Amino acid sequence: MAAVLFLCAFSGCAPRPPAAVHEVQFFAFGTLVELSIVTPEAGVAKEAEGQVRSLFDTLHRELYPWAPGALAGTNGALEGGRPAAAASWLRALIRRAQALSERSGGRFNPAIGRLVELWGFHRDEPRAAPPAAERIAALVAAAPNMEDLSFVGDTLQGRNPALMLDLGAYAKGYAVDRAIARLKRLGAVGGLVNAGGDLRAFGARGARPWRIGIRHPRGPGVIAALEIDGAEAVSTSGDYERFFMHRGRRYHHILDPKSGYPAAGAIAATVVHRRGAVADAAATALVVAGRREWREVARRLGIDKAMLIDAEGFIHLTPELRARLQFQVEPARSLLEASS
Ligand code: AMP
Ligand code: MG
Repeated sequence: MAAVLFLCAFSGCAPRPPAAVHEVQFFAFGTLVELSIVTPEAGVAKEAEGQVRSLFDTLHRELYPWAPGALAGTNGALEGGRPAAAASWLRALIRRAQALSERSGGRFNPAIGRLVELWGFHRDEPRAAPPAAERIAALVAAAPNMEDLSFVGDTLQGRNPALMLDLGAYAKGYAVDRAIARLKRLGAVGGLVNAGGDLRAFGARGARPWRIGIRHPRGPGVIAALEIDGAEAVSTSGDYERFFMHRGRRYHHILDPKSGYPAAGAIAATVVHRRGAVADAAATALVVAGRREWREVARRLGIDKAMLIDAEGFIHLTPELRARLQFQVEPARSLLEASS
């Protein structure tokens, strides 16, 4: 008490204004980014918004493999069979992606950039029809994977000319982690960064915890709400994010590296984890794993809170996530049936 009085004597005990939630939206990484910053100081919110915007722009430029940037440079060298120089942050990122890929049994496989390109999912305009089966088969047979990469000093060495890095299944979660670190460093007392389905929070939303919705994979609205604590990230991957229709069939952007075709065993997956990058990679891996293998893959990735929506629209949950969700739909019914 004495210490408090002493401090008051010097500071005049000016009452701190209550923390307000500043909300902004902007486009980055080809998606709408929603940013909430909790701080009593408008100046901190403004500075944080500017820094997060420029962080996202920089990361997108450096990590988008189909335009000049750090990752494109690395890919160019690997394709030519040369040792690829990469900055230390990029090497660290690739190493972590390598570890996650291995633990996912290659279901999360950021080495399949050529396959993504063949399907045209790197572009905004979708294809009209799937690519030729022989071209898909050739890339599947070449089997590029993260084990084809090794680190020699400051450089990367590839052993497979078909390898092309595309961190699209991981980069948004990574960017969200970096953004949260930035908000903390700038002195915000809470925040939430949502990059189109990959989000992370810290602190609280004033007196309330952060509450988010998990999108319905077919209809508008959400299927469930979830309160997240100040140290959680949530990622959802789904076949509705990027796809084209051909002869009544949906061809979506999450590819099964084993078949070379869009994953057929699930339409969406949601993962809760401390780190955004892990949640992002894992959500993609679980869609590829599908109904039969997702629990085992989640376990190997150290994920205990996960949800899978199988190809028939039925919801599967780990008990740890089930206990946390407030459903807005009847969870035992198929989501495909309900939306038709
Ligand atoms: P996400 O929305 O996080 O599931 O990431 C999907 C994006 O990651 C796609 O648009 C591709 O660029 C890339 N991708 C597709 N399939 C895979 C896969 N099996 N492993 C890693 N990246 C993938
Ligand atoms: Mg992902």
